[in-house]
Amino acid sequence: MRKTLVVGNWKMHGSRPANAELLAGILAARPFTADVAVCVPFPYLFETAATLAASDIRWGAQDVSAHEQGAYTGEVSAAMLAECGCRYALVGHSERRAYHGESDQLVADKAKALLARGVTPIVCVGETLAERDAGQTEDVVKRQLAAVIHTLAHCAGEIVVAYEPVWAIGTGRTATPEQAQAVHAVLRAQLQAATGHGDRMRILYGGSVKPDNAATLFAMPDIDGGLIGGASLKAADFVAICRAA
Ligand code: PGA
Repeated sequence: MRKTLVVGNWKMHGSRPANAELLAGILAARPFTADVAVCVPFPYLFETAATLAASDIRWGAQDVSAHEQGAYTGEVSAAMLAECGCRYALVGHSERRAYHGESDQLVADKAKALLARGVTPIVCVGETLAERDAGQTEDVVKRQLAAVIHTLAHCAGEIVVAYEPVWAIGTGRTATPEQAQAVHAVLRAQLQAATGHGDRMRILYGGSVKPDNAATLFAMPDIDGGLIGGASLKAADFVAICRAA
């Protein structure tokens, strides 16, 4: 009922030759039963679009401005992402929240700006290790998601959610399938209560997903795919994860 979605988050990695090789490797491995997308740095969007346009692989960005247009030096609008053919954009990645001080409300405003331009927000939520150790995981992720649900109102059902425990990102320390499933179930219940069709919405897991742990994570009932950082930079690894779906 929910088609698995695997999204590569390249972060600030890549170069034109490296991207060409990576995308060629992904294209050569089709078809996938999962939906597959890559979220690339802004300067590479057009070239990525040209490379993938004739395929069923989608592309997107890693952030967006909450503003429509104007004197916001360095920012990129949702309209610009739409012009680049983006299907998705990440919002609220923990690296944006931590290093750029993004608040729950700013993340929600970014999601709203994207939906207004027909780009699907992938809303990232997740707790730090200190928050998990303090037993606050549920409260934190529900608070983060609630801001988005409240701001989007009747459009809240159009987002993708990614649960990414901060302590699992880039650390090699993956959440166990049971730990991840428990949080996904909480998020799905919240989405269901808010939209009435949470059972149709996709909730991805992210944080040290690798070829050897992807299948067990994706097999959990409320895990609908993955947001993949480090392992999305090597075609063989990313393809293996897409095939695990
Ligand atoms: P990771 O990153 O797969 O390298 O842990 C995931 C993410 O930050 O989206």
